[in-house]
This record gives sequence, C-alpha cells and structure tokens, in this order.
Amino acid sequence: MSGGKSASTRPAAGVVTRAAGGGAGAARGIATEVVRGPGQRRAPAPVLPLHGERIICTVNQANRADVFDLLDIADELGVSLVKFHVFSAIGTGHGNSELAMTPPEWVDFCDHLNEIAKNYQTRVWYQPTYARHDQMARYQAEGYQGCIGRTLDRISIFPDGRCYVCSYLFDTDLHFAQMDGDRVRLNHGENEFDLFTKPLVSSSCGGCKAPACLGGCPAEEIVMGASSCETYADIVPVCRLWKSSAKPEE
Ligand code: SF4
Repeated sequence: MSGGKSASTRPAAGVVTRAAGGGAGAARGIATEVVRGPGQRRAPAPVLPLHGERIICTVNQANRADVFDLLDIADELGVSLVKFHVFSAIGTGHGNSELAMTPPEWVDFCDHLNEIAKNYQTRVWYQPTYARHDQMARYQAEGYQGCIGRTLDRISIFPDGRCYVCSYLFDTDLHFAQMDGDRVRLNHGENEFDLFTKPLVSSSCGGCKAPACLGGCPAEEIVMGASSCETYADIVPVCRLWKSSAKPEE
C-alpha cells in the first residue's frame, strides 16, 4: 500500500488482516504462511479507513481463492485502487514454482476479474502478462505497443547499485546500469536493453500468432526457458510492465 498512515497500523501490501482467530482471517494467514514460509503468518492489525490508498496483491496458487475478497474490503475501507499481479518464480518466489499459475489459469483469473470489477467502487487494475489470441485487439486499442522496456520508461535500483528496467529480469546479470556513488555506469556487457530491442528485428518466439504482441516478451525464454506462446497454443505474451483496467474508467 502507499500513503502516509503509520505502517504499524496498516495491513502490509497484499496481506489482508481483518480479524484474529478462525474463518476467513485464518485462511488468509495460512495463505501468507505458504508464500512467506513457516512462522511468517502476519499478526492481525487494526483496520483503519484507507481513503485514497492502494492495495497491490500478488496472486498465486495458494491465495487465488481468497484474493477477490480484497474488492469487498477495499470498498468497505474506501481504498481507491486494487491492483493484481501474477506471482513469478523469481526473486523471493524462487524455489516456489509450484505456487505459480499457468498462463491459461492467469488469463481465466483476469477474465473473472473483468466480469466482477464493475460491481465495486474501487478501481481495479491487473497485469495481463498473457492474453488469448482474441484479446490482443483490446490491449492494442488501449495503446499496447509491445515490450515497454525499450522505452526506458522506469528503472529499479537495488541496494547494491544494480539498475534494472524490467522487473522480470531481476534474477539475471542483464542489469542495464550500475550506480557508482552518484554516477550511473551503463553495463557495457550484455544487458537488458539489447534484449528489449531484439523483437524489433525478429519475434522472440520465432513464429508470431498475433502481430499485436509486437515481438513478444524476450525475457520469457531466459527466465522460463521458452516463450509462453510456444508452450500454449492460444496464449500470447503481454509485457509484464503493462497494466490494464478491469472496467471502464472515467
Ligand atoms: S517483461 Fe518482457 S516485454 Fe516487458 S519489459 Fe521485460 S522483457 Fe520487455
């Protein structure tokens, strides 16, 4: 969540803490423990009105049945935006690949989100990540133009100074630059920018089913060993940095 209230009185991002004891509160605690490890269940915290705050939730096999409850809770608390991300088996997700949802499962999840989002006051966004072939026209109409990495739109700086544009590549040595004190040193070895520009020459899956994907996601092959569209007949990769609204916004 973002905002100015004291962190000690607010639930952490993606973790809902409404009530101690059994029932849904306990189920959510268990889901948290599955993701974060034994003994990492969060203590329930008091719930405050959260007008204007955001919730970002990472969805995986352990919590997928619970996460739609966030929409009720968001409306109850006055949260302005709930954003759903797909769990990746990178970073802290490394070694938990059994928690990852398959591309078709994630697309089905997003379809359901698109159906129910209109019933809620809060804004609802999600990371499409994958689309069925026939869904690409929608994202294209929203302005999707393929790999966002090549626009150098954003950058994440790690405590050790490594700078990445694409969050999907955080576990690789393909960082774009390295902070050296207050100076930025470009990584002159193989770096992610070379990767981002490759689909401009040839698609990253080797046989494009949907031209609107604009070359696909060049990181998939590196991180997963194969592109999602090669693995699943009706799946097209969508840049993980791209977000879409689950309902029309004014
Ligand atoms: S997720 Fe894939 S498509 Fe998006 S910036 Fe990274 S490499 Fe490019």
